[in-house]
Amino acid sequence: MAGNRTLTIIKPDAVSKGFTGKIIAQIMEAGFAVKAMKLMHLTEKEAGIFYEVHKERPFYGELVEFMSSGPCVPMILEKDNAVADFRKLIGATNPAEAEEGTIRALYAENVGKNAVHGSDSDENAHIEGNFFFNITEMVG
Ligand code: ADP
Ligand code: MG
Repeated sequence: MAGNRTLTIIKPDAVSKGFTGKIIAQIMEAGFAVKAMKLMHLTEKEAGIFYEVHKERPFYGELVEFMSSGPCVPMILEKDNAVADFRKLIGATNPAEAEEGTIRALYAENVGKNAVHGSDSDENAHIEGNFFFNITEMVG
């Protein structure tokens, strides 16, 4: 059975451009409930750990620098089939390839500065949720 939680981050590009409220509204209108949320600024070390799976990719350094460049808003979201439904809501990694009306099509700048993160599996949703939030910061 598909899990019901996913982890998103409204990334520094979208936060700095003032899109946080609109993105949260679109997420909630799509039927996701917010179970945890905060505004924070990742250090380079923390961003490096979060994206450790991409360590060998050529864009890793750029990604870590970007994700630690300003405030971001991580959130735990709940909905049936959360991981797959959320990836559909945000669209392809590259906004040029993202379906019309998706969060990345609307708000992303390019393949790196792409406005939002979405977990890619139930297992990673759990790991990523616990990376940002402890039990006192989650509801339900
Ligand atoms: P997604 O976020 O859609 O799951 P990936 O897991 O493949 O995509 O990549 C993680 C993040 O790394 C992307 O969201 C994006 O910020 C960045 N990234 C991916 N591909 C590139 C690229 N070719 N150049 C620069 N940054 C990239
Ligand atoms: Mg990914």
